[in-house]
Formats: sequence, structure tokens, C-alpha cells
Amino acid sequence: MKIKRIYKTRIHNIHKDNITFGNYYSDHMFYAECQNGKWINSVIKPFDNIILSPRSLVFHYGQAVFEGMKAFKDQDENVFLFRPKENFKRMNRSAQRLEMPIIPESIFMNGLERLIDIDRKWIPKNYGQSLYIRPFFIAVDGILSAKPANNYIFMIISTPVGSYYQHPLKIKIEEQYSRSASGGVGFAKAAGNYASSFYPTRLAKEEGFDQLLWTDSSTHTKIEESGTMNVCFLINNKLVTPKFNDNILKGITCTSILALAKKHGVEVQERDVSISEIIYGLKKGIVQEAFGCGTAVVINYFQMIGYQKHKFCLPKLPDKNRLSIWLKKQLLDIQHNLSDDPFDWRVNLKKF
Ligand code: PLP
Repeated sequence: MKIKRIYKTRIHNIHKDNITFGNYYSDHMFYAECQNGKWINSVIKPFDNIILSPRSLVFHYGQAVFEGMKAFKDQDENVFLFRPKENFKRMNRSAQRLEMPIIPESIFMNGLERLIDIDRKWIPKNYGQSLYIRPFFIAVDGILSAKPANNYIFMIISTPVGSYYQHPLKIKIEEQYSRSASGGVGFAKAAGNYASSFYPTRLAKEEGFDQLLWTDSSTHTKIEESGTMNVCFLINNKLVTPKFNDNILKGITCTSILALAKKHGVEVQERDVSISEIIYGLKKGIVQEAFGCGTAVVINYFQMIGYQKHKFCLPKLPDKNRLSIWLKKQLLDIQHNLSDDPFDWRVNLKKF
């Protein structure tokens, strides 16, 4: 792999105490091409614009998938990736569904590790802060023809981040629009899934909500996920999450949280979760907590759930009594190398 280093770092432009999501991008990016199934031109180079033909297939037919993952620092400036192989595998599941080539593990992992090593000074050290890493894969054939491309670009960029949301969330149960449908691409991290969610999310924001809670497209009775988060409910002291199916993106954060909860003796259920169960539980006070989880947000609890014309408030608990806050700390402690790593999730990034 070729490495072209920047002439002068931009890191001094960032205000370390005021890092919001996606404001600054690190000095370098990874770039590789796949031409007719052959991987060529792997390079780490200064972060910059790329030039594409206006005919590029990605602009017209949306053949694009991506990932989201994080690198963390501990107090001694060691750097850790969190479960990167899971992102690698999910990226290829997404690529396969969009009829794109498989990305070799060596391209993904070498590109990732070399890039993060070169830009390690961009990883913030404070608890809860990290370097958010965005691998993405796009079709670049210059032809206006609705068929899979022969030529692709795979890139990785990164951005130092703090908290995604600064407050507990107000969530609206969506009954008209759908994020995904059975047999579709909901389980994939396909770019178009996000574009199609923007309009209904904007409508919910205009009503005062932060996010939507998606329901199944055929009956709108079963809960799926929310924004870029999987969702969990604490019902009668059991941690319940909608069973992963082809409508739902199987989150690495959610599966990690479920494993942590189980390990600490919490009963975990992956099963269908109906709107009626949640509304009944909210009315009766049986739903103790509800929260979203994902790489960007880590864990963010819900303060209110809107359903039709009604707004249901979740119990107001002190943070010390919240399972969601406790789980978030367990996860962040592992990510920042402050506790044991019983599941071997941390990958210590070597210095090249
Ligand atoms: N659901 C959707 C639609 C997402 O975009 C994400 C974020 O990647 C998640 C769930 C959570 O997944 P993960 O925990 O792997 O970030």
C-alpha cells in the first residue's frame, strides 16, 4: 500500500473541548479501487475531494453501502478499535445485497489499521470521546444504465466525535412511512435507507420529536428500530429488543449490550415487540426504561414516546437507577480500556 503523508496537519484547527459530531475530518483517508473484480491502487493519502464523472452509477442508481465504527484511546494513549471485524462482515453483507463485489479482509483491515495509526493523534482522549470511522463503498462506472457496476471505490475517512445527542430523546411511533420492508435492504447499511428516512423524520421533528420509532411496513404494529439506533425496553426487569430480521440493521452496539446485560444476570429477550404491548406497559408503568443504542449515540434513553395523538412519558429515574446508564458505562469502560474485556472486543492497534 502506498502512503502519501500530509505536508502540514490540520489538527491544531480543532477545539478539543467542543467536539461535535462530524465537524472535523482527520488528515488522511484510505482509498482503493476495484476494477472488474481486481483490487488496485490502495493508498493512504491526504484527505481531499475526489473527482467522479457525473455519469457515475452511484449518483443515479444508489449502489452505495457504508459502515460506522470507532477508535478509542486509554489514559496511556494506547489505541483500540471496537469489534472491527463485525463491521467488516456487515459491510460485505450489505455489499452482497446490493450486488457489489466482496471487499477482501486484507484491504479493509490493512486500510483501516494503517489509516488510524497514521491519524492516531486525531483520537480524542476524554471519556466518551472517540474517532468515528466511516468506511464506504460506491459504484463509479460512468454509464447511465441501471445495472451493477464493474468499477468501485472503497474509502475510509474519520472524524473525532463526542456525544451525538446531548439530551434524552422524544420518539414518535411511525405508522405511515416505512424505513424498510420484508425482502428489502433494511438489514443492510445501504445509503438509500437513510435518504428515504429523512422526510418522515423531518415531519416528526416539526411535531417536536427527536426521532422516529419505525414499525413493520406490512402491519405497522411491530416495533423495529429508531433513526440510526436499535431499541431496547426494560419491561418488568427484562431487557427486551425487537428480534433482528431482514428489516432491521443488526447493531454491533446492541448485540454487545445484550451480551453485557446477560453476563450481569439481566434476563434478555429478543422477540417481537408490539406497539400495543409498549403502550399498555407505559400506561401501567411496567415499561421502566426505553433506549436507543448504536455506534454514534452509544446509548441514549427515551424520555417520551408519541403514539398517534398521545404522548407517553417514561418514568423519571435518577441516572444511578437506570440500567441504560449502567450499561453505557460498562461498554465505555471496555472501549476505553478501563475494565476487563471478557468478550475480546478490543483490538489494540499496533504502531506500524
Ligand atoms: N440501525 C441503524 C439503521 C443504523 O444506522 C445503526 C448504526 O449503524 C444502528 C442500527 C446501530 O448499529 P451499530 O450499533 O452497529 O452502530
